[in-house]
Amino acid sequence: MTTIRMQDLRKSFGKYDVIKGVDLEIEAGEFMVFVGPSGCGKSTLLRLIAGLEDITSGTLAFDEKIVNSLTPSQRGIAMVFQSYALYPHMTVYDNMAFGLKLAKGSADDVKRRVHKAAEMLQITDYLDRLPKQLSGGQRQRVAIGRAIVRDPKVFLFDEPLSNLDAALRVATRLEIAKLHAKMHETTMIYVTHDQVEAMTLADRICVLRDGNVEQVGTPLELYEKPQSIFVAGFIGSPK
Ligand code: ADP
Ligand code: MG
Repeated sequence: MTTIRMQDLRKSFGKYDVIKGVDLEIEAGEFMVFVGPSGCGKSTLLRLIAGLEDITSGTLAFDEKIVNSLTPSQRGIAMVFQSYALYPHMTVYDNMAFGLKLAKGSADDVKRRVHKAAEMLQITDYLDRLPKQLSGGQRQRVAIGRAIVRDPKVFLFDEPLSNLDAALRVATRLEIAKLHAKMHETTMIYVTHDQVEAMTLADRICVLRDGNVEQVGTPLELYEKPQSIFVAGFIGSPK
């Protein structure tokens, strides 16, 4: 179980300040959703947590350990992006097993992990197929499966559903909710600009505005007591 603490976290690209002093604590096993308008810094904050961008200043700690200078794999994180970059010439099984084989897992262990993840995501029937033989939703589940097999302590999602059509988006969202229930020891951070995804998936929502945290709270807290018109605009209009 991993708690994530950010203290005065900042990121600049040249002269341009993108993350402007974020203080935030994400509890172990929590499903935290980052929402906010395009360009407010959601992906950048996620990439800082992942170790895909250097932190300009401030501290990022997993449990009590400062991880500012650790690589993504040293941090024990897995990340799923909007576009699922599966290897087109490999079967679903091999796509999921690839990273584990690179990490020199034993054949039995690789097989066990892939089958466990496939069961969790209900893709066991597709293990022998190639990505092109799958629907968009199935492919995204394979991409999620590829992250799960590595048994991450922290699971990061950057708008994983935004390339799917409306029906698949709902189905895959439900899959992710189930996944959170099954992997309740894994801390999850999920970026979206979709209010319904935020309200239905989150334990807590962090509303970002122009590189700062505007408000953090449960969906109900934000809905009932938005601290600003900005938050109300994101959360307040029930569908
Ligand atoms: P969001 O995910 O909320 O849409 P991003 O985190 O992608 O926002 O981007 C936040 C701001 O940082 C944007 O103005 C973007 O142009 C800028 N930005 C992101 N990555 C880079 C980069 N590598 N170099 C320069 N500017 C960047
Ligand atoms: Mg983004």
